[in-house]
Amino acid sequence: METLDQKNKRLKEIGRIPINPLIFWGVVSAALTTVLLLIVAASGYISGIHWLIFVPVFAYLVIMGLFLAYISRLQRDRDQLLADRLSEESHRSEELKKLNQELESYAKQLFDKDIELTMANKRLQSLEQAKSKFVAVTTHQLRTPLSAIKWTFHMMMNSHLGPVTDEQKEFLRKGYASTQRTIMIINDLLNVDYIEAEQLDYNLVSIDIVELVENIMFEFTNQAKSRNIELKFLKPTNKPPAVMADPVKIGMVLENLIDNAVKYTPVSGHVTVHLSDARINSARPGVEIIVSDSGIGIPTAERDKLFHRFFRGSNAIHLEPNGTGLGLFIARDVIEKHGGELWFESKEGSGSNFHFTLPLFTSKAKT
Ligand code: ADP
Repeated sequence: METLDQKNKRLKEIGRIPINPLIFWGVVSAALTTVLLLIVAASGYISGIHWLIFVPVFAYLVIMGLFLAYISRLQRDRDQLLADRLSEESHRSEELKKLNQELESYAKQLFDKDIELTMANKRLQSLEQAKSKFVAVTTHQLRTPLSAIKWTFHMMMNSHLGPVTDEQKEFLRKGYASTQRTIMIINDLLNVDYIEAEQLDYNLVSIDIVELVENIMFEFTNQAKSRNIELKFLKPTNKPPAVMADPVKIGMVLENLIDNAVKYTPVSGHVTVHLSDARINSARPGVEIIVSDSGIGIPTAERDKLFHRFFRGSNAIHLEPNGTGLGLFIARDVIEKHGGELWFESKEGSGSNFHFTLPLFTSKAKT
């Protein structure tokens, strides 16, 4: 079967036939007329009647010749156009073929990349799992002995294991505070891992928020005293109603906020925890807790990053090099899961106020 290229070549050749149809049909008409004239002349008799026949025949031949010439011309032009079009189309089909080949090679490259990415993703997932497992196991293993050390310090400090001098008490207090801080860092690492794996379980019960705040504040008495920081609790005159919350998680939030307030307040400053009942009779009844300090404050340029995982303020790192940058990230997640909100106001060098709300009737923690 004739290929497109062969057809194209043949059409081009047809279009290139060197005979001019006008000349061709002119010569044919003239030849026929001459033959006719010769026949009539040979008959030896040319009269007016013969001219009468001869002229229309001659005219007819000329007109036919011109008509045929015109038609041939049209056909030649059409063939030429067709040949050009075919040539263009074969050119285009060549380009399309090339494009198709390129596309096929791109598709192959994409497919290879997709396989590579899927494998890298799988590797990342297994690394992530290994990391989570490592963090969970290590932190769990560390927490128990550290708690034992902390309580031993506590008992010795309070002379439960025999009399201690004031100087020894000071050392024991430092040991207690350092152990407490390490336990908090371990808790943050464990909790952030649970948050990311969405495995932080909530156990909502009816809690006495005043009692919870007092218990947590008690943990910081020594730390505050050692730095001559005044630690105050402002509570409403009427005891607020019980709140549905997870006491361990809310305790953790309070610990993080009070720990930050004490940590980031230079010696002889003030830290106040204010439990407000102003929202008890609002459309969404709840309590508000504000932890205020007279500390270093938060630089304006860093405000937006404060709740990001691992973020630590430039002034905070300077004052307290040990920290995880996880406390606020965890605290906000816990409060939001309780249906509350956590926010802050601060000015660098003039202290900070961290607020959070807890609705009274959270029946179920949000996931
Ligand atoms: P960490 O205290 O371990 O750095 P956090 O997540 O608790 O981690 O806090 C993140 C950052 O927020 C801190 O590094 C500090 O810059 C800033 N910050 C939090 N609380 C205060 C505060 N009371 N005063 C000043 N800066 C604070």
